[in-house]
Order: sequence, then C-alpha cells, then structure tokens
Amino acid sequence: MVRIPMPAPQGRADLHNHTTASDGTNSPADQVRWAAGQGLSALGITDHDTIAGWAEAQRAGDEAGIEIVPGCELSTEVGKAEVHILAYYFDRNEPEIAALLQRMRGGRRVRAAESVKKLHELGYTEVSLERILERGGESVGRPHIAEDLIQIAAVRSIKEAFDRFLGMGMPAYVPRPKLTPTEAIAIVKGAGGVPVLAHPGLIGNDQLVRDAIAAGIMGIEAYHTDHNDQQRQFYARWGLDAGLLVTGGTDSHGPRGSRTVVPGEVNVGLEVVAELKRLSRWYQATGGR
Ligand SMILES: [Zn+2]
Repeated sequence: MVRIPMPAPQGRADLHNHTTASDGTNSPADQVRWAAGQGLSALGITDHDTIAGWAEAQRAGDEAGIEIVPGCELSTEVGKAEVHILAYYFDRNEPEIAALLQRMRGGRRVRAAESVKKLHELGYTEVSLERILERGGESVGRPHIAEDLIQIAAVRSIKEAFDRFLGMGMPAYVPRPKLTPTEAIAIVKGAGGVPVLAHPGLIGNDQLVRDAIAAGIMGIEAYHTDHNDQQRQFYARWGLDAGLLVTGGTDSHGPRGSRTVVPGEVNVGLEVVAELKRLSRWYQATGGR
C-alpha cells in the first residue's frame, strides 16, 4: 500500500504590515494588492494603535483572493525600552480595547502638537501641525513629523530627523502616554485576541522577553525583517520551548525609498494563521464576523 503523506497547508502569510491608516505609505487596498501580487495567501494588517485600515483591506482582500488577518500594533514601554505588542483577531467592539485604542491615538495627537511646539521654539517655525495631522490620518506618529522637517528642508532624511530632533532624549522628543506590556497583554486577551511579542530582537533586553512570557504573551515574532538568521533561530526555539506560537512578518511600511520592504520577504506558513484563529476566543465565537 502506498502511503500518501498528509498535505501541509498551502500558502504563505506575512503577519505584520502598515498602511496609511498609520505610518505606512500604501493605502490598505494598495498594500493588499501588492501582497497578493507577491503570491501571498494571507496578510496581517497591523497598523499602530488603529484598526482603521481593516475594512478597506478586507474588501481588497476579497477581490484579490488573499485572506486578511486583522490586527494592530500597540506601543508599550518599560523604563527606557519600547516593547511592541501585536494583537490579532480581537473583538473591536469590546469596550476596554476600544477605549485603549482611542486613548493611544489621542495621545499621539497631543504628542505631535507638543513636539511641533518644541520645533517652533527651536526656530523651525515653518513646521506645520496641520500638515502633520493630515499626513498622519487616524494614527499620527513621529515619521509624519520627520516628513514635514524634510519638506521644509530642515533635514534630508527621516533618520536625520530622529537623530537630531525626534529620537528619545532629543530636543523635540515628547514621551507617549504610558502603557506597559502587561496591561496591553491583559486588554488584548480580554477582547478575545491573541497578543504576540513583536520583533523581540529589537528590544535589546531578553529579560523583557521573559517578563512578557510571564505576563501571558501567546506568540513571539521570531521571523522579522530586522532579525538576522541567528536571532530568528534563537527566538523561534525559545518560543517553541515556552509553548508560544511562533509568528513572522516583514513590518512592511509600503514603498519607502531605500527602506522599501516588499510584503512576503519574511513569511510563515498558513498553519500559523489557523493557530491564531484557534487561540482567539473572539474568532472562535464569531467565525470572524
Ligand atoms: Zn510594525
């Protein structure tokens, strides 16, 4: 008798993408079409602190035949370290997470205004908060301020804007409203979602990875554009040993000059998407409706 092996689920997924709903350069529909053109079967839409891109991405996904994995990326802080938490398949109507997202976006607008005030005081009076908020849309961030500094020819690149003005400790830096990883993990789970530790290698402190695991993180993004091979293997092994779901994605922000990352350059199998759904209480209860 010939034994036919069980076929592995077909297709690849890129679970980390940004759009114009936050600081990406592609509209949600354009990012989805781009990803479909790369042959991906599923795409995570994970804008910072907002789900404003979900509906458009979903429509484009239906048309292009690519599955959309709804998510977002929450910025949390511990001391001076930034810890990003990806949240997938949560109930957007659950009051606590809806309030959190609103608070984070409000904090972003206040932060942008304070940062612009500092730039004006430094003599860069042509920087325009109005233009920055328009660029930022739902979720304004420091890259939008950096673009304005480029527009008025105060700097030549986003990197220069961060190095001279906007980076932590620089003269136009304004801290964001505080949210800890532990709080974010609890709120995401409370909304039936799956919290995943984003790019752990970029945190620069593995004690914070241990702390996130202790706080109940459910997945770890071992595969990320800015992780080298050694980091990918290290965090994938750690995740498996800790019983976490091992995920991956490009963190593509759309076409961005020399920093253009094409969706799918980093990817995982579709079985990871199936696992995210299995772990999500909201998805299980509703089938994603
Ligand atoms: Zn990201």
